[in-house]
Amino acid sequence: GKRPGETISRGHKNYELMLNLQLGIRHSVGRPAPATSLELKAAAFDPKEKIWTRFPSEGSKYTPPHQCCEFKWKDYCPVVFRALRKLFQVDPADYMISICGNGALRELSSPGKSGSFFYLTEDDRYMIKTMKKSEVKVFIRMLFAYYNHVRNFENTLVIKYYGLHCVKLTGPIQRKVRFIIMGNLLRSEYTIHRRFDLKGSSLGRITDKSESEIDNTTILKDLDLNFIFKLQKSWFDEQIDRDCEFLEQERTMDYSLLVGIHFKEIASTGELIPCGSQTSSVQASPLRTFSFNSQVSLFFIPGNNVNESMSPDTEEQVQEPKKCGAIKLGANMPARVERTIRKPEAVFHLVGEQTGEIYEVIVYFGIIDILQDYDITKRLEHAYKSIQYDPTSISAVDPKQYSKRFRDFIFKVFCEDI
Ligand code: ATP
Ligand code: CA
Ligand code: CA
Repeated sequence: GKRPGETISRGHKNYELMLNLQLGIRHSVGRPAPATSLELKAAAFDPKEKIWTRFPSEGSKYTPPHQCCEFKWKDYCPVVFRALRKLFQVDPADYMISICGNGALRELSSPGKSGSFFYLTEDDRYMIKTMKKSEVKVFIRMLFAYYNHVRNFENTLVIKYYGLHCVKLTGPIQRKVRFIIMGNLLRSEYTIHRRFDLKGSSLGRITDKSESEIDNTTILKDLDLNFIFKLQKSWFDEQIDRDCEFLEQERTMDYSLLVGIHFKEIASTGELIPCGSQTSSVQASPLRTFSFNSQVSLFFIPGNNVNESMSPDTEEQVQEPKKCGAIKLGANMPARVERTIRKPEAVFHLVGEQTGEIYEVIVYFGIIDILQDYDITKRLEHAYKSIQYDPTSISAVDPKQYSKRFRDFIFKVFCEDI
């Protein structure tokens, strides 16, 4: 598959910003600190818990010399993020290598509408997103609850955040850039053929691309989804409930379930090849046209792999699933036990079925973009769109309604197979 994004090399308009970020992360993560404990004092979550570090070009007692203009670097609640990284089993050295190693970051051509910029690390492990000040405020406000939530529910689908920082450029252009570092949910050694960003609302929730323009980088939306996932009763429903309750309590909205799908066998024409069919499998070269048939229904079983360690040595490791009996297959199909891939993020193993044919897919997903509160802008958006459209179809609704609609939709799309 094609690698998304533009590499930030010398001359790129954000080259210096990238260097600042890398210098800052190296400083924050590499700085000597007392052993990290998961038992945190309330004070660690205090919004005033932040450290400013000055990075003069010539270097200082604490910072190395560098080729950029002087800048300032801020770590928000550093003790909490250290604990989060520990909780998520991120090795500090690996983390630094991913973000500040030899490879440059890649800038994605702003996938969202909010105006945030997105960067991917060379190894695809982490995604860095620029944040609005209001989003930072929301996150700091909910940090204690977030910490407890991800600690209590190891199967949570809520995105993992690893760090929150700010770069203050003190050169000729004075500005602040705030960043959040999160896991890349769709990192996979398998090409993600289709990606969906699902909110549960309908207004405008369709891609503006024509069928022939849709490819594996297109972010498809609610109305583009014309199939459902059938699953056996699992922890999934309960976890979605818990996650939504948490987001509702924190009064945020506008989040989505990001779903990435890898189809195991795809013809060069872009057609799906059912397993067991005679057609030989063709390497999935860039996918051109491919439309989902509305008859497709997919079965999946959760992998028992959600909480595995993500050290780079073991994460590509592949093992047989323990409970083969849990695999649900369509009628008449020989049971094929597939490998379970160990991944830090929730990875599900799927078997697809279309009019009696089984398709094998692997699905990755998680809840992203959780830091938008129902602020004045969103209330106004709701108010003016309500004049023209059905208020329940609008993305901007209050957090309680949002969560209910989101759940209803997710449960419709991921429904129990009976
Ligand atoms: P808006 O507010 O307009 O929805 P945004 O700028 O807040 O957009 P996000 O919704 O956070 O942006 O992300 C936009 C897209 O970027 C997502 O639909 C998804 O395709 C991709 N993306 C975001 N976060 C991740 C992640 N952690 N892993 C993989 N892909 C991601
Ligand atoms: Ca979004
Ligand atoms: Ca957003």
